[in-house]
Amino acid sequence: MAIVISHITHLECPRCHRKYSADALSTYCVCGSPLFAKYDTTQAREDVEKGQFPSQVNSMWRYSQLMPVKSPLHVISLGEGWTPMLTPRRLGKHLGLKMLRIKDESQNPTASFKDRGLCTAVSKHIELGVNEFALPSAGNAAVSMSAYCAAAGAKATIFMPADTPRPFFDECRLFGAETISVEGDISDAGREMNKMNGDWTVLSTTKEPYRVEGKKTLGFEICEQSGWRVPDIVICPTGGGTAVIGIWKAFDELEALGLIGRERPRMFAAQSGGCAPIVHAFEKGLDTIEPWMNGRTQALGLRVPSPFAGRLILQALRRSGGGAVAVADQDIVEIKSMVGKMEGMNICPESAVAIAGLRNLLESGKIDYDEDVVLLNTGNGSRYTNLRGSTQDTTTIDSQ
Ligand SMILES: [Zn+2]
Repeated sequence: MAIVISHITHLECPRCHRKYSADALSTYCVCGSPLFAKYDTTQAREDVEKGQFPSQVNSMWRYSQLMPVKSPLHVISLGEGWTPMLTPRRLGKHLGLKMLRIKDESQNPTASFKDRGLCTAVSKHIELGVNEFALPSAGNAAVSMSAYCAAAGAKATIFMPADTPRPFFDECRLFGAETISVEGDISDAGREMNKMNGDWTVLSTTKEPYRVEGKKTLGFEICEQSGWRVPDIVICPTGGGTAVIGIWKAFDELEALGLIGRERPRMFAAQSGGCAPIVHAFEKGLDTIEPWMNGRTQALGLRVPSPFAGRLILQALRRSGGGAVAVADQDIVEIKSMVGKMEGMNICPESAVAIAGLRNLLESGKIDYDEDVVLLNTGNGSRYTNLRGSTQDTTTIDSQ
């Protein structure tokens, strides 16, 4: 697989603009903001002119010039990214939309969009000499990090809320990770991890610079798969917010490369009303997130009481002219089941929240029925055995 080298130059704080080396281990800025990787976009633009960007690789590594890993030897790939943009015609018609597309991230190696970020973060840290990792996770990120650590021959320690469904724990163990179960939510899991203070590098959401770089490729793919055209609307189910931040960052880089112009989609974050810190902050006009106490939702990936990158998430939503929407948790099972029957897709509950959010935004007139909407299905629903009333009894016929 021909992978060209990265044009990464350094890391930079989007808030105070302090610069950091991309060749040393970094967490976040001294000012408390996440760090962004920066690239030599003049060189990357020359690659575009020579027809070398993107490459022909059928994974997210087709954009390796704008990825942080310098040597192809350090890329630990399981074939992540370059997922299909589906056109769910029956669902689109049901919602009354002229053009709905679903970026189907369930078709990633471990069946969720977490693979993009964790593939990138594990690979870059392997390049920097790390071989032991830890992570607090609501489920999918844990499975993903465990898989990439296995492929890299690195050690993974996972901290998950005790009520995370068994299949998540089982799959992490299948990949050789050590799993620790913690009473509470993902923040409590993070606190336990910090207390244990192991000899590991932590890959928590936006507390290291590279998961965002992987998620960014979602934005590249959405544009490339639309013929380098930007959709009107992008809807992301949002917990920690890496997808919102990464996709937003992607458009600036594509513009610097001359692949798109100044146009941007309106970005919307969808959350469950049971844990909606981003919606609350957006609606109150706040710049930062107030922690959501005792959050409860069946969409486990959205049970993030206080996303670390709150300021950047709110900025992206506001600058795009989009917004944030909360939906009733009771709608999740109904929508998941409806999409199953209409489209043959087993979407995750987080994406059911995004579809319910889209329905609300259409009904309230915040999105027009003739706009071009891209919605993320962030993962496959099969591990979520927590969902109540999600299966109906099968009729059994007595053969005697
Ligand atoms: Zn800073």
